[in-house]
Amino acid sequence: MNLRIGVDFDNTIACYHSLIHREALRRGLIARDVARTKTAVRDSIRQAPDGEDRWRKLQAHVYGPCMAHARLAPGARRFFETCRRRSIPVHVVSHKKARYPHDPTGMDFHSAAMAWMRRREFFKPSGFGLAEAAIHFEATLADKLRRIASLRLTHFIDDLEETLTESCFPKKPEKILYAPHGPSRPLRGVLVLRGWDEITGHIFHA
Ligand SMILES: [Mg+2]
Repeated sequence: MNLRIGVDFDNTIACYHSLIHREALRRGLIARDVARTKTAVRDSIRQAPDGEDRWRKLQAHVYGPCMAHARLAPGARRFFETCRRRSIPVHVVSHKKARYPHDPTGMDFHSAAMAWMRRREFFKPSGFGLAEAAIHFEATLADKLRRIASLRLTHFIDDLEETLTESCFPKKPEKILYAPHGPSRPLRGVLVLRGWDEITGHIFHA
């Protein structure tokens, strides 16, 4: 089988958990004992009456001006290097708006993400060797699903259950949930793996 692998970007490749936790604490949005995961921080902030708005502003801050401090997810390097060595095409397909409405910074999130990848040598032949044209930012979830279908992928890896369990998700790619913190419920038709080492092992038996 000729492999063609698609990967989500935010919280699958670029890891924001400690960054989101740190910035939420700095803004006084959460108590110190909230767990250092995106979901725990989000759920805690959303409990406030204007929580949804605060959460959106925090996200705009983290995915924009703070993007440079995001980490490459543990084990992702070995996965991308394995793909490069075996000449496996990899596409990044992300549901990411260019800007958030009401974001005071006016930052372009696509450029911030591209700069982050460039700095980590995603596009250098001696790095991960990805083509810049293989990075797809889509404005809506429907566009993201259409893109995944058009790329004829064999696997798609995402940290969001909602993406993989969406009824319009294309039939063909094997759905892999990147779940370093475990899934909240069992998922039909989705392979749940704990991290990049397990994903590399599953796809490449390596
Ligand atoms: Mg994601």
